[in-house]
Amino acid sequence: MSVGVLAPGLLVATLLLFIVIASVLVSNLVRLRESFSWVQHTNDVISAVAGIQQAVLEAESNERAFLLTGIDAYAADFGRTRDQLVSRFESLRALVSDNGDQVASVDALRAVAVMRITQMQAAVDLGPAKLPQALDILEQTRIEPLTERIETMLSTMMRGEQARLMQRQSQLDSETFNAALITACLLILAVAGAAITAFLLEHQRALSRERESDLRLQRLQAELLRVARLGTMGGMTSALAHELNQPLAAVTNYLRGSRRMLDQSSHPEAAKIGSALDKAAQQALRAGAVIQRLRDFVGRGETERTPESLRAIVDDALALASVISRDRPVEVTRNLDPTVDLVMVDKVQLQQVFLNLIRNAFEAMRDQSERKLFVGSGPLEADMVEVVIADCGPGLDASIAERIFQPFSTTKAEGMGVGLSISQTIVQAHGGSIRTEPNPGGGTIFRFTLPLAEAMQYRHGPHWPARTEALTG
Ligand code: ADP
Repeated sequence: MSVGVLAPGLLVATLLLFIVIASVLVSNLVRLRESFSWVQHTNDVISAVAGIQQAVLEAESNERAFLLTGIDAYAADFGRTRDQLVSRFESLRALVSDNGDQVASVDALRAVAVMRITQMQAAVDLGPAKLPQALDILEQTRIEPLTERIETMLSTMMRGEQARLMQRQSQLDSETFNAALITACLLILAVAGAAITAFLLEHQRALSRERESDLRLQRLQAELLRVARLGTMGGMTSALAHELNQPLAAVTNYLRGSRRMLDQSSHPEAAKIGSALDKAAQQALRAGAVIQRLRDFVGRGETERTPESLRAIVDDALALASVISRDRPVEVTRNLDPTVDLVMVDKVQLQQVFLNLIRNAFEAMRDQSERKLFVGSGPLEADMVEVVIADCGPGLDASIAERIFQPFSTTKAEGMGVGLSISQTIVQAHGGSIRTEPNPGGGTIFRFTLPLAEAMQYRHGPHWPARTEALTG
């Protein structure tokens, strides 16, 4: 299954997973909030218990200080601490109101604390003036140690709350860790989702680009086919005319000779035969003229020359040729000199030349395991560029190597043998020339020249491949 088909499914799965994990995160956050408020609540209870502990101790020390010094400020402080103790018990009770056991403990604690406060209040009321009676009360607290009982009860409560706090704290920690983990998962999923989306968009773009270039290739192919057909017809007509001219000239010569022989004879029908021979000669001449006109017409072929990019023409031809030989891909190396890129040519005709040469090279290498093509260009003279197309095929067949540019020379069963002759006609019509040479590493090199759109300073480019260099190795 291709990635393009797999990716949308993967994206949907990622989104679904994202939604599921996001809802898990939401419920985890709700629990986290609850745990947090429980921890907060336990902390509140602990500080309320500590506050009560503090207030009991303060009340006791104020009571004693007043009895020992008689300073009223201590009595006033005692009264304030006592009132505070009452309100602290109220708030502690309110805090634990949802837990029956805790309410019971607070009530028990409050009862003992009230007893102790009442004792202290009685001693404070007696004051230093009645110190002996007050000391009796203090003595009584030694026998019945209410403060210690309060302390023990408070410590028990404190320990219970602290254990609860630890438990809630560890729950909070594990929920926080879970939330972090889930958030990380969500982030990873979001990144994965974004990556898949980006991939899909790019894939879509690549598909439409491919479709566009396929369309362009199809159009180009159709146009080239049309031109090729015209060119083939032209080439065939021209070759036929050339072939027919000689027999026609021979016919005319024979007719003329026959006429001369007739003139010297005394044949009774000489006049009649002579006129028939004249007419036949006239018709042969007419046929010759018709053929000449046909050659002129085909040979004239109007061209439209504009400055064109050699690289673009090569790219188009390579794209077309690779479509034709898709099943046998060829490794192509391009070395096109950008300083001699603009040529003054008829673009479609030049595409035809490149396509002919490249297709021939591809076909020559078809049955080989190694298929390499080199396409290069370099400056030749001030106003010309030389193009090289080299393959590593079997090389030219010796039987036709000499007449390769002549029409109807082919070694292929299905071949017409006009591609190279048309290519030569086109190159020559542009003021250039074309030739072949063996590729030193094996294969064939085609070299042809074209006019530059703008003349340039001639350079001996060291980068330009030497003539003896193997161009495809
Ligand atoms: P066709 O391809 O129809 O045969 P062409 O005029 O294009 O006509 O080619 C003529 C002949 O030249 C081919 O049949 C082939 O034998 C030979 N030829 C052309 N290019 C190459 C090449 N690159 N390698 C080997 N032989 C080639």
